[in-house]
Amino acid sequence: MRFSDKFDVFVVGGGPAGLATAIAARQRGLSVAVADGALPPIDKPCGEGLMPDGLEALRHLGVTIPPGDVYPFRGIRFLSGAHKAEALFSHDLAYGIRRTTLHRILVDHAAACGVFMLWQTPVRGLSRDGVLIRNKSMRTRFIVGADGTSSRVRRWAGLNHHERKNVRFAFRRHYRIAPWTNFMELHWGSDCQIYVTPVGGNEICVALISSSQQLRLDAALADFPELAARLANAPRATTERGTITVSRKLPRVYRDRIALVGDASGGVDAITGEGLCLAFRQAVLLADCFASNNLARYQREHRRLLRRPALMAQLMLLIGKHTGLRQRAMQVFESHPESFVGMLAMHVGSGSPREYLANGISLGWQLLRV
Ligand SMILES: Cc1cc2nc3c(=O)[nH]c(=O)nc-3n(C[C@H](O)[C@H](O)[C@H](O)COP(=O)(O)OP(=O)(O)OC[C@H]3O[C@@H](n4cnc5c(N)ncnc54)[C@H](O)[C@@H]3O)c2cc1C
Repeated sequence: MRFSDKFDVFVVGGGPAGLATAIAARQRGLSVAVADGALPPIDKPCGEGLMPDGLEALRHLGVTIPPGDVYPFRGIRFLSGAHKAEALFSHDLAYGIRRTTLHRILVDHAAACGVFMLWQTPVRGLSRDGVLIRNKSMRTRFIVGADGTSSRVRRWAGLNHHERKNVRFAFRRHYRIAPWTNFMELHWGSDCQIYVTPVGGNEICVALISSSQQLRLDAALADFPELAARLANAPRATTERGTITVSRKLPRVYRDRIALVGDASGGVDAITGEGLCLAFRQAVLLADCFASNNLARYQREHRRLLRRPALMAQLMLLIGKHTGLRQRAMQVFESHPESFVGMLAMHVGSGSPREYLANGISLGWQLLRV
């Protein structure tokens, strides 16, 4: 396909959401171009955990991840002071995967599907019949804003109003050390969280999230002596990189023929580890809605997809904010491990609404009794 051709779908942003949307749209027979200002493989500060539901969403896209490219983990462990609670995923494993590896896999798959990709090509604006790149207008039927949390497409399309927004600050670094567990660990501190994801046989990803723009990993680790001791002699594999994580709910995720996907379309706090899964699910949905020319359906179903992860994010932020509540919750998780198993099942969507409700009531009751 030539550079000047018209496309059915033009995707602004070639991160996970943009590439997944491009792949799904190609699978429905649409011609697709993706433009990104960066050069692959694109790195981004991330916890680098792909939860079981995210892997399933990837399989829906026909993307399989070679086992050698990941480090599988079996569950989630919470650590808070002297308290520890852990639960296994009910079925399937999750993967720790370097962000650059995931990007390379998605780019290869998009290329194999016939997606036209333009790298180091930032989109500068929207035109009457398409998007502006390199001082040219590229004609297209649909435009996708997959340009991340600070999306310019969202602004250009007049979709920047939000119903709810909460910003936190995140920093991540990799260490060369053999993972000491096949759980993803979430360490709760008084005013921050650190999560540790095994991403290779000799590498882990450590990500800090807090409400403070100033707090960095080394200072934060002072609050977590056990973790600090493990990392003390581990060589650093990457430099510390920071970003923001935004919980955002938009009243509208499309206007006319412009639709938003992934973090551009709102999202959940990074603490959930659900951002990638959401992006992949939205991508499949959006491609379906392009194929049936029904973006109103995208609006409705997008809201539904966001509901459970947004609820989990709110619960986790609440636990993070209130020390007393967190200690009580940890005591309940320790004394009633099945409640933590139920919470994890809800987190990754592997149970039924009836089971979530029953576990929620039981957890609430136990919290009142502690
Ligand atoms: C600290 C942290 C930890 C996280 N941990 C996890 C985790 O463990 N598991 C999980 O599932 N999720 C996690 N997330 C969330 C996950 O990283 C995001 O949900 C995911 O990256 C969203 O992908 P995206 O494609 O929407 O956005 P991005 O990955 O931000 O991609 C946007 C792309 O758009 C491009 N772009 C921007 N503007 C333009 C323009 N004008 N023209 C062309 N291109 C443009 C950028 O170069 C970029 O490549 C984490 C997030 C953070 C911040």
